Amino acid sequence: MGRYLCVAILASVFTSGCAFSDDVSEHRSLASFKGESACYDRKTEPYTAVVDTHLHYRPFDGRAIPFNEMNDYLSRTTVRFANVYGIGQMLPSNSSCSNYLKCPGTPVAPTTRNDFVNAANMIEHKPEGLHLTLSMTFTDLSNPEPTVALMEFYDKEYPGLFHWMGEVNLVKQAQFFNRHQAATPKDITKWEGFMAQLRLRNDPITIHSDLGNDDDPTMYLPLMERALALYPDNKIVWAHMGMSHELTTMKATQHIGIMSRLLDAYPNLMIDISWRILDDYYFSKRGNQDLYVAFMNDYSERILPGSDFVAFRGNNFHVYQQELNATSRIHQFLDDNAFRNIALGQNYFDLLKLDYQAPQICP
Ligand SMILES: [Zn+2]
Repeated sequence: MGRYLCVAILASVFTSGCAFSDDVSEHRSLASFKGESACYDRKTEPYTAVVDTHLHYRPFDGRAIPFNEMNDYLSRTTVRFANVYGIGQMLPSNSSCSNYLKCPGTPVAPTTRNDFVNAANMIEHKPEGLHLTLSMTFTDLSNPEPTVALMEFYDKEYPGLFHWMGEVNLVKQAQFFNRHQAATPKDITKWEGFMAQLRLRNDPITIHSDLGNDDDPTMYLPLMERALALYPDNKIVWAHMGMSHELTTMKATQHIGIMSRLLDAYPNLMIDISWRILDDYYFSKRGNQDLYVAFMNDYSERILPGSDFVAFRGNNFHVYQQELNATSRIHQFLDDNAFRNIALGQNYFDLLKLDYQAPQICP
């Protein structure tokens, strides 16, 4: 077990704990999560998560931070466990556009390209000291028919390598100008084949489904509710608590009310608190923090942390660290039980039945 020098060394620079300690301390190793380990001292050890369940190793245009470099970023932080998402929706390979928001009209379409690059990299550069879970991100929820055949193809090429599906888009308003259309209620009924496969494999699926927008905050909620009603036995993870740049003004009480109601109704549903917009627009807003902390303490076994970092070639370690810090900021205020379940990874280990365990919190 490493010693945690960060607070002492950085106390004069950063007063709020130990989030920036990558270059001066040894964070806990992957091996330390096997079996019993020293208790976790929240006063001196970081509040940033040890698991990043929402991390895009591949960008929209294919020009990525190299796989080894991305893993090196993780190693310099507290993160030891990560989901390797591609990004399922890519710009055309012959397009010069790298940011779809700046290229309205250019399609962003589901594809297998990123998943295969990630799979090849997992084989070629098996990372040491990290536990990576490879995810299938190709699925087109509006045109689900080929999904089962593609899953079989993945399994033929890379047997036993993929253990997650997503992030896949049910409705993502940000891509409406790039020919993305929300899946319809009828489309959702056609998921049955691949959802059955996921249940058999015990693999979770992370779904991006916007709640709505500032004009109509629950405009798209019926779509997610339909998916939950049709597939209550699937391990569905709702990305970003349904939030997006299109919905930044919802009342916290209304938001928490919806999340609580659905978590109560669907015991297999989990939510991911990835993407810094949650902290920027909701958790950190005046009057909101206590409400969200109470919610997370109440539902602490149902929440997964993540950065939603995208490994664009133009991003770098500093950006990753910032996004990890922003998405982890709320962890500081959680009770010990919730901190252990969410930030220290216990929920993730339980969900995937991994042979790891989170340390107990020091009294
Ligand atoms: Zn994402």
